[in-house]
Amino acid sequence: MYGIPAVRPSTFIGGDRHGPLWDCRGINALVAMLISLWVPLKEIVLKGGLFVRGLMVEVIVKELPERPRPGEKVQLPNGETIRVRHVGIPWLLPPKKVCNDPECPWHGHLSVRDQVFTVVVERVHGRTATVIHEWLHYDPKYKRYERRRKKMHVRVPPCIDVKPGDIVYISETRPLGKTVRHVVIGKREDVTEVKSQVLRLEQQQ
Ligand SMILES: [Zn+2]
Repeated sequence: MYGIPAVRPSTFIGGDRHGPLWDCRGINALVAMLISLWVPLKEIVLKGGLFVRGLMVEVIVKELPERPRPGEKVQLPNGETIRVRHVGIPWLLPPKKVCNDPECPWHGHLSVRDQVFTVVVERVHGRTATVIHEWLHYDPKYKRYERRRKKMHVRVPPCIDVKPGDIVYISETRPLGKTVRHVVIGKREDVTEVKSQVLRLEQQQ
């Protein structure tokens, strides 16, 4: 296993007639495990993946002249290279800005789930915003729709600027705080040409 020769029982140091003092096979396995783990561990430490939220030193945001494509690599002023990810929603385009926040769905490693809500921003406080989600719920007894609304706390990545009154798209993600389970993934203008036509047709109806 792992190409490391097992220590023979005759080479043990110390011990008594019941057996060696240390179980060398266990130590061997531990060393082999550490060696095999070292490469991914180094990668995680270098990319800041092990940092707890709030421990990151500085958040850098760079504005690009053109909107980047998913998969494109962008160099930040501090020399860091950021790869623009694809969040998995085909009609949503990445923001024009690039950040180095590990908790960004586009430039960090925060994965989002496939349900997207269209919400209105009510208040922005730092990296979090309060949004209002309104939808129609069908009541089968009265055969009509009723209005429902819910306030939610969402995370705002540094590369997306939101202000009260904005219409933004949010998606569910892992819990990021006591009440934060959603993240802003884009604004109304960050959609493809086809999607904006669909939105225009929906508004006309
Ligand atoms: Zn970002």
